Amino acid sequence: MKNPFLQPFTAPFEAIPFDKINLEHYKPALEIAITEARQEIEKIKTNTESPNFSNTFEALERSGSLIGKISSVFFNLNSADTSDDMQTLAQEISPMLTQFSNEIQLDLDLFQRIKAAFNVTDKEKLNGEQAWLFEKTYKSFVRNGANLNNIDKETLKGISTELSTLSLSFSENLLKDSNAFEMHLTNESDLVGLPQSAIDAAEMLAKSKEKESGWLITLDYPSYIPFMKYSENRELRKQLFLAFGSRGFSNNDNNNETILKRISELKHKKANLLGYKSHAYFVLEERMAEKPSKVHTLWDELIEFALPKAKEEVAEVQALADRLKGPSPLLNWDFSYYSELLKKEKFNINDELLKPYFKLENVLNGAFETAEKLFGITFTERKDIPLYHKDVSTYEVKDKDGKHLSLFYAEFFPRESKRGGAWMTSFRDQNKYDGKEQRPLVAIVCNFTKPTETAPSLLTFNEVTTLFHEFGHALHGIFANGYYESLSGTSVYWDFVELPSQLMENWCYEKECLNLFAKHYETGETIPMELVQKIKDSSNFLSAYQTVRQVGLGQLDMAWHDLESIPTESVYEFERNAGKNTALFPELKETVTSTAFSHIFAGGYSAGYYSYKWAEVLEADAFELFKENNIFDKVTAQSFRDNVLSRGGSTHPMDLYKQFRGQEPTSKALLKKSGLIK
Ligand SMILES: [Zn+2]
Repeated sequence: MKNPFLQPFTAPFEAIPFDKINLEHYKPALEIAITEARQEIEKIKTNTESPNFSNTFEALERSGSLIGKISSVFFNLNSADTSDDMQTLAQEISPMLTQFSNEIQLDLDLFQRIKAAFNVTDKEKLNGEQAWLFEKTYKSFVRNGANLNNIDKETLKGISTELSTLSLSFSENLLKDSNAFEMHLTNESDLVGLPQSAIDAAEMLAKSKEKESGWLITLDYPSYIPFMKYSENRELRKQLFLAFGSRGFSNNDNNNETILKRISELKHKKANLLGYKSHAYFVLEERMAEKPSKVHTLWDELIEFALPKAKEEVAEVQALADRLKGPSPLLNWDFSYYSELLKKEKFNINDELLKPYFKLENVLNGAFETAEKLFGITFTERKDIPLYHKDVSTYEVKDKDGKHLSLFYAEFFPRESKRGGAWMTSFRDQNKYDGKEQRPLVAIVCNFTKPTETAPSLLTFNEVTTLFHEFGHALHGIFANGYYESLSGTSVYWDFVELPSQLMENWCYEKECLNLFAKHYETGETIPMELVQKIKDSSNFLSAYQTVRQVGLGQLDMAWHDLESIPTESVYEFERNAGKNTALFPELKETVTSTAFSHIFAGGYSAGYYSYKWAEVLEADAFELFKENNIFDKVTAQSFRDNVLSRGGSTHPMDLYKQFRGQEPTSKALLKKSGLIK
């Protein structure tokens, strides 16, 4: 049998022939693809024409397209529908790809050619998208050290190796320290307050860890969070909180203090070596925020209004605790518990009340209808497209003039072969090469409540907003209309990518939009206004408190990554200085945040934690314009499509945003939305 990756795709819209692809096709096809890509690179290097934009930058951009075709299918399925064999294969395939991309990044001859082309190209003659590709490609080499002398290159290599070992140790220590703790409860009275689902989970956990009886509480979120929220036993909450807050901070082999200080020091040195003032400057160069001062300005604006309000919120929770003869002052391990009680008292709203109005099929159609009202596009189900799993549905997305835009794959229920969470992805990105346009294949994958024998899939409100969120990302892919694939769709700066997705969530809170789809699955009754109001009001519960916490974490991240010199103080001291303006509870000597802050010390979020708030600012500011005009205003929607959704990463996101909004984003709309200003 022929390898389907090496044949033209013949399904409608050249969709992926999932029905023909087997596990044994990936590796041989990839080997051929890598050989082909090597030849393409060789051709760029040995081209006898003098180096220019087209024969160097564009040629490099277009090289390796077969690798992309194969690996996007492989890694998407490895997330959405994997197997043991597929995971084993991933262990072989990933190193092949890493090795090939290192080979390119470290190819001196290739870089000489790029540099030569960079120096002779007249930037003025390039269009906006070309200029962006030009800068981005050149920088990707320089930021990896291509311009350094040999001694500095060696130093950089040493730093990178040490950093990857250290961040691995950081995660391992954190995991070991978390797993070392367990709270084994054997007395039923210790469960008072916990919802049945949490009790059942704790019982199952005890059984799985071969306890003879009882209930097990651990530091994993699904176990930790409900206990802190609902347990009436203050002493146990305290025990659990202290264990959680001292992960990586205890006097044992899993301590992360030295490791994280060394990580922060090495990142600083690496940034200096590459010519940047600090790691934060290095990171933000390729972000919408551009430099640390802009991030600090945002925080100052938020804190000014959020801090006094957060203190009021804490006081309100304290007042409830006082009424119930609870502790005063409330300490860290009391706050979740009493705020949950206050939430219940104030809003009396829960998932069960809302779920009957959110039948999955209705919500999905609601998202389609919202897009149709805004952009005039339509979604039509297709039964003739190959699928990777029977749960997947496929839709053709057509533009308002009937022109094909994209295929849209959607699937919603958990299964063993799928990882957790919800995400948007694409099986193929858009490009326009040689006068032929390649349209994208866009997908969303979720893990929502399944139908039961007696009821259809009824979503929680959180699942409804998740669906709209992923759908927003999908629109970014569907409307892509650029030239270069690497700049197309969701390939944008990191602090810009959540704008379309978070923006779409706003429609879920609008009566006019809910009226389209939030209908009781049995009676057909539209969701009552009173419930909509409750959803809105409760969404702002403790918003100032949450803002202060998020800013605090962002500031801590930035403090570790925007160093002026190598810190000499202890982690505890360092944190206290960094978080001075965001403390809401009395200090605790036993706990810190940094030693368990894996987002920034082991994940990819270093100098990037701010981006959560940044995205909220953008999204609130953008939605403000829709609200001013009308949430279904076609002109505003068209402008958002033309200036943001269709433009991908084809130029600096601030320029795109300004073209849409007429000005830079301000935090005013977010402050208003969160109820922090009128
Ligand atoms: Zn997202």
